[in-house]
Amino acid sequence: MFEPIPDLSKARILVSNDDGIHGPGLEVLERVAASLSDDVWVAVPETEQSGAGHSLTLHQPLRIREVEPRRFAIAGTPTDSVLLAVNHILTDRKPDLVLSGINRGANLGEDVHYSGTVAAAMEGTLLGLPTIALSQIFASPDPVRWHTAERFAAEIIAKLTSQGWPRNVLMNINFPDVEPDNVSGVEMTSQGKRKIGDGLVERHDPRGRPYIWIGPQRSGGEAPRGTDIEAVGRGAVSITPLNVDLTDTATLLRFKETVFP
Ligand code: MN
Repeated sequence: MFEPIPDLSKARILVSNDDGIHGPGLEVLERVAASLSDDVWVAVPETEQSGAGHSLTLHQPLRIREVEPRRFAIAGTPTDSVLLAVNHILTDRKPDLVLSGINRGANLGEDVHYSGTVAAAMEGTLLGLPTIALSQIFASPDPVRWHTAERFAAEIIAKLTSQGWPRNVLMNINFPDVEPDNVSGVEMTSQGKRKIGDGLVERHDPRGRPYIWIGPQRSGGEAPRGTDIEAVGRGAVSITPLNVDLTDTATLLRFKETVFP
């Protein structure tokens, strides 16, 4: 288990994301982190990496640009950013807490398998650090209600870290697309289902050759009660604990007993 952190004011907090150094949610999360602790560090990708998943850069060098003291842009993926921050930049003292976000858009259901925001959080978890991913849901082209995430994030982070949780688990928070006063509550949820990839758009480039663009459309029926998708649909903040150990124990045991004893 991660040790509870009863007092975050002495904690070293690492902020990362997948929207990059110019991502609009970065400064929101930096303000949230700064309201909790004076020891806040930022390590994020140079460019937007949404959808990059948990990819690691192995075939080209990684360059670190110190944008300001304690703020670094890494010419790589979200995973690279967290890895270099923890094992190269913050070698004098590792972070006590890693925050990833605040992502511009939802990370619900199967999104977590593609999300760079969640992958940065997975990397923090794999490095042995308590980690929280944060995403603000919005409906394009409407403006993003960053003020909803900002109203609730610090208190939720403090409540979560006051408890500690298993070392192979990260917390995935999604803030609903409603005004702060209309948030219906904060709920623990399970990962729902709504697969991306139904909205494949085929067009032709200026030379007449066809290309495909993956659109935002997702398939999924009625969201069952208690899932992340259902909770945010009712205006609640959703918190889903995600396990980086993907073993399915029930299936393991069944095949171990009956097929390969
Ligand atoms: Mn993103």
